[in-house]
Amino acid sequence: MAEAKSSVGEVRIAPDRLHAFVTAICRADGSAADEAKLIADHLVLANLFGHDSHGVGMIPHYIQNTGNGACVRNHHAKIERDNGAVIVVDGGAGYGQVIAKEAMDIGIERARKHGVCVVGLKNSHHIGRIGHWGEQCARAGLVSIHWVNVHGHKPLVAPFGGAEARFTTNPYCTAIPRKGREPIVLDFATSQVAMGKVRVANNKKVQMDEGLLIDVNGFPTTHPGVMYNPPYGAILPFGLHKGGGLAVICDLLAGALTGGRTHSPRTIKQNSTDIINNMLSIIIDPDSMGGTAFFEDEVDTFIDWVKSARPAPGVDEVLTPGEPERMRRADREKNGVPIDGTTWQQLLDTAQKVRLNDTEIPHAVIA
Ligand code: NAD
Repeated sequence: MAEAKSSVGEVRIAPDRLHAFVTAICRADGSAADEAKLIADHLVLANLFGHDSHGVGMIPHYIQNTGNGACVRNHHAKIERDNGAVIVVDGGAGYGQVIAKEAMDIGIERARKHGVCVVGLKNSHHIGRIGHWGEQCARAGLVSIHWVNVHGHKPLVAPFGGAEARFTTNPYCTAIPRKGREPIVLDFATSQVAMGKVRVANNKKVQMDEGLLIDVNGFPTTHPGVMYNPPYGAILPFGLHKGGGLAVICDLLAGALTGGRTHSPRTIKQNSTDIINNMLSIIIDPDSMGGTAFFEDEVDTFIDWVKSARPAPGVDEVLTPGEPERMRRADREKNGVPIDGTTWQQLLDTAQKVRLNDTEIPHAVIA
């Protein structure tokens, strides 16, 4: 994203106060204490990791959706099909922070028993940062691979070679546990940028980098507004035909294989705020393959080898997937989470909408 300074200012909030604020908004909106906590845990961690697109800025959208029934509060994951190591879980449009956690809990238990579990999670409300689910599996010592699709609203991302959108930002994630160390977590949208990052740029009123967006005629543009004001443009897929291909695979695995549905005219709702995620996860116990001790040793050997590469000019250090997030976390734990002025105002408006007591709104420091 362009480094241009935001014209709308920014506040910095201590993570614990932000957590308390989000929890209070969700509680006031009718979420049970456990649900509110899981939502706040997830969103604040996304901000700490630097993925503001999937942080607390999602709350106004979530509360809008609980209000119109597109997100169902206090709903739990339900096993719809059970073949032991292959399960289908229905989310019933419940909060993804609850549904995906419960689906992974079941998948982890089954992978420990069978060596592997394939989890088809369908029809969940937004499940946020997919790395969160990979990290849950990694904490249990398990490898996991996740393909995700999104439907319920208009398409946002053009297929490779296309001049108009056909699907959305379809994230992909693989998480690899490490003994005594943080996991390797590769987690990204298959679009050039996550839609939330376009939202953040639009809120900040800054231009985006070149090569990310096209306008309604398929020509390159740097204006995030093309995704918000008609006639709409589109986000490009990352990595030319390879990333464009992976985006298609995400819709097919997460949407068609799980039974959750792909992004197509059957599921597109124009002008809708719905945000339904489906996810195919494969959770593998390393012990059922080459053995845990071998795996851990081999992972360490390879990662040390990779990181020993001489950094390219202008690069301080070769990082592994997941490291940039942990570096940002260390900084934000210390200095607070930056939130652009527009997003902050949207959060205050949402707090007012759910009639939150003024004393529960954290004091914000204008940067
Ligand atoms: P991104 O482009 O910032 O890429 C992040 C990945 O690249 C991470 O694994 C990170 O560790 C790695 N990385 C970044 N810089 C690196 C470096 N210098 N060296 C090594 N590795 C590096 O991510 P994104 O595409 O903007 O996605 C942001 C988030 O949005 C993700 O968490 C994704 O799951 C989420 N998302 C969710 C949905 C949904 O529907 N729920 C949709 C799209 C995206």
